[in-house]
Amino acid sequence: MSQDRLLDDETADSVAATAFAAYSRCPSKTKPTTRPDGTPEWTNLAAIVLLRATHQEQVCVALATGVKTTPDKTIRSAKGRILHDCHAEILALRAFNRFLINECLKIQENPSYLSRYIIVKNQQVTAPRSTSTGNNIKARYSLDPEWRICMVITEVPCGDASMENLGAGIEENWSSGELDETFPLRGRAYFAKLGVVRTKPGRSDAPLSLSKSCSDKLMLRQLTSAIQSPANLVIDPKNAYISTLLVPKDRLNCASFERAFGRAVGLLTSTNGNRYRDVRFRWATFRTPYEHSRDAAGEQGKPSNVSLIYVLNGSTQAEAVIKGIRMGAKTGTAASASTVSRACLAEDVVKLLQAGPADSRRTYSELKKADSERVRLKETVRQSLEGWQSTAEDEFALDERVPSERAAQDGCRAGSEATASSRPSPAKKPRKERS
Ligand SMILES: [Zn+2]
Repeated sequence: MSQDRLLDDETADSVAATAFAAYSRCPSKTKPTTRPDGTPEWTNLAAIVLLRATHQEQVCVALATGVKTTPDKTIRSAKGRILHDCHAEILALRAFNRFLINECLKIQENPSYLSRYIIVKNQQVTAPRSTSTGNNIKARYSLDPEWRICMVITEVPCGDASMENLGAGIEENWSSGELDETFPLRGRAYFAKLGVVRTKPGRSDAPLSLSKSCSDKLMLRQLTSAIQSPANLVIDPKNAYISTLLVPKDRLNCASFERAFGRAVGLLTSTNGNRYRDVRFRWATFRTPYEHSRDAAGEQGKPSNVSLIYVLNGSTQAEAVIKGIRMGAKTGTAASASTVSRACLAEDVVKLLQAGPADSRRTYSELKKADSERVRLKETVRQSLEGWQSTAEDEFALDERVPSERAAQDGCRAGSEATASSRPSPAKKPRKERS
């Protein structure tokens, strides 16, 4: 099956070029700049490019940049509005979920809308119920299996897959011995220890973030798919596994990748593998240059504070995010929430669920726990991998926002053309995909 084919060098170069072309169309205020003192900025980029072998077609549907994380303590009061992990890979996955949800919303609003990406499986939505032995989730939507998911990344993922790459992530200078090894290792601490769970890299004096490294999170995606919770309640994970990771040719270390992503082997069992599969990443390399790489910025370069989030079917060109919220918005307001924040994604998932029998869940964590199989799968991973520790709970009521606040919010709606038609302004036409 075409899904299983390795990408040849030429195709890998052109998939990367498709991602960078989408990036070049994003507004400059969302990108690294040159600071007043002349210091050039850089950032990492990750993109989801869908590839359709039968038509030689490539579409960049989601893209993000970023190298920062928000400290754990800010999450407890975030109400789902602050993005915790702003590393490019993780934001790109969120943006991909936003893309798929937007497609589902379009179908829900207009049943005659023919999505090029989504197929509708069950006409009747069943409100998912979870029991100790399983759940009855029958996701209504599914990614069309014609599409193969490629993830372009301009730097090796932080954590275990990058341990042999000097200069990967943000450098630290920690003395060994100051850390308890039973804890997930912070960043590149004890860098000789391989195959273990690590938190995001960062300065050793920065506030604690328990956010797992991109290697750890991506490793898990081989089991849970690119569909995140709670989008997994409406979109079937089965067709949505990342097929290929594309990295720059001079960065790939196959042994590190084998080790870091091989940790998923054997973790899918009969008790947690009904809805889920075990789809191991393949990798390919590209030579296409990326304009804002760390190398391009040179020795004097500094990481940019801004993250860019682009979604093909979003009605805004691209979103700029700083410290986990939309650039220019006031912290704590609904308008500060990115279209890919937990709050906005969960709100739209609830909207999609409510097309069926009334859904009684009230909080975000209840929504997340509805897929008990996924919960068990994650628990298996947690028990199998040394040091896998949960981040602070980002709990919030799903109907917490008051109507006036919702009306004022540009956030969720800006990312969803499906809801744009309910506004007085004329609905924007869907953007044409580029081949
Ligand atoms: Zn990372």
